[in-house]
Amino acid sequence: MVPTAEKYDVVIIGGGPAGYAAALYGASAGLNIALVEKAKVGGTCLHVGCIPAKELLETAAVRRAIVGAATFGLTTDEPTLDFSVTQARKQQVIDGLFTGLSGLLKRRKVTVYDGIGSLHADHLVTITGGESGDVEITGTHVLLASGSVPRTIPGFEVDGQRVITSDELLSLQELPASAVVIGGGAIGCEFASMMSDLGVDVTILEALPKILPGLDDDLTRVVLKSFKDRGIEVRTGVTVNGHEPHDHDGGTKVLFGDGESVDVQTVVVSVGRRPLSDGLGLDGTKVEVSDRGHVVVDEWCRTAEPGVYAIGDLINTPALAHVGFAEGILVIQDLLGEDPVPVDYGKVPWCIYCHPEVSFVGMSEAAAKEAGIDVVVSKHRYAGNGRALIVGEPEGMVKIIAEKRPDGTGGRLLGVHMVGPWVTEQLGQAYLAVNWEANAEEVAQFIQPHPSFSELFGESVLALTGRSLHG
Ligand SMILES: Cc1cc2nc3c(=O)[nH]c(=O)nc-3n(C[C@H](O)[C@H](O)[C@H](O)COP(=O)(O)OP(=O)(O)OC[C@H]3O[C@@H](n4cnc5c(N)ncnc54)[C@H](O)[C@@H]3O)c2cc1C
Repeated sequence: MVPTAEKYDVVIIGGGPAGYAAALYGASAGLNIALVEKAKVGGTCLHVGCIPAKELLETAAVRRAIVGAATFGLTTDEPTLDFSVTQARKQQVIDGLFTGLSGLLKRRKVTVYDGIGSLHADHLVTITGGESGDVEITGTHVLLASGSVPRTIPGFEVDGQRVITSDELLSLQELPASAVVIGGGAIGCEFASMMSDLGVDVTILEALPKILPGLDDDLTRVVLKSFKDRGIEVRTGVTVNGHEPHDHDGGTKVLFGDGESVDVQTVVVSVGRRPLSDGLGLDGTKVEVSDRGHVVVDEWCRTAEPGVYAIGDLINTPALAHVGFAEGILVIQDLLGEDPVPVDYGKVPWCIYCHPEVSFVGMSEAAAKEAGIDVVVSKHRYAGNGRALIVGEPEGMVKIIAEKRPDGTGGRLLGVHMVGPWVTEQLGQAYLAVNWEANAEEVAQFIQPHPSFSELFGESVLALTGRSLHG
């Protein structure tokens, strides 16, 4: 231990959602906290992830509303897009949230160090390369929360122009005329949806047999149909073999599958994210890192080094900002000796903000059947929902999977899956019901406001009791 090093109750390396949640929650519990961040607090989520991606998707939604306005009797000119204004608005949202978060950390008396944090033996953290200069601090507990960065693939070197990742796409000042998105996961589909709605000619190339792997098949079909109707070309089960840059127009020819190709202006590589464990030091500690770069932890996010935890995208749990928040809270409760319940990763909320939106919690029908559970399924479509017709977004459905009772009705709710208008905002009560391990008849008693999208969830649950209203 370095005698001169400043000592904190908790030292956190990485100021993304996982790290700053631990800092804010720990400080509110009276702990003396240091947060080490090499770039800007807020992390991927605030600067190059959730917030900018959703802001750009909102621009796409506004354009769809304008284009669809004629059906409400409002005629407008064809909208034109100045993407630099979109970007300025996006940055304004980010800046506002960044200022708010920085102020909150200050008010909670969290000491924020600017630089690269590395962990050594005896909980010593060195900070280098930033505005804080070279500093050594120690923590009774240390939290590793250094997050993740985009994965890349051989043959597609990122040059920021022809070949980009989410980091560059989110800051483009002008959209390309055409793009290939390599990878049909949640982020790839969000980008494809956004770009297509803003006039880009989009092709998705996915190596797996389906886009949005893990999603219930009924929901995937709805997304696929909408993508197809809007002109997004989706090719699944194809691998990319490289690309040949054009001489004439700054674009490139993407080679894929069995001798196929597509000419585009931009390639967006969206093949997942890599945990950022490099730079964390860890010499002289017992912290283990897996082959894929994740820090290995137990259910309470404890590493093999006593008093050292790891949270967020750095560990092998769902790479979601709100999972990082939950892990940040969990470790603070654990280090305070409060015996917290671990995060139930099979029942966290998932939201995908493409058009149409997708949200789900718990088991898909296929997963429940694979687990050998006898299930009953209730499906209802937004086409029969008053509010969906009013807003002009009738595509989509709510699908609920419940344990089957001997009389054929639904018992405990195992999974709720939604695709359609504003479903990312409707998941809350489904999340609560599944995690509360509630039965269909218990949830069916609760009243849904009318007219609302959420009536479709109520209707789907009611149908599981063996009786129904409209469905
Ligand atoms: C395009 C996109 C869209 C997304 N959309 C969503 C969404 O809608 N919903 C959702 O839940 N999730 C979404 N995510 C995922 C979400 O952004 C991540 O799960 C989340 O940011 C992870 O939080 P984290 O704190 O673990 O890591 P990060 O947010 O990556 O933060 C880690 C921080 O640590 C810092 N750091 C790294 N190493 C060091 C070091 N040695 N010393 C000091 N600082 C260091 C980094 O600079 C960074 O600020 C999206 C991601 C992307 C890329």
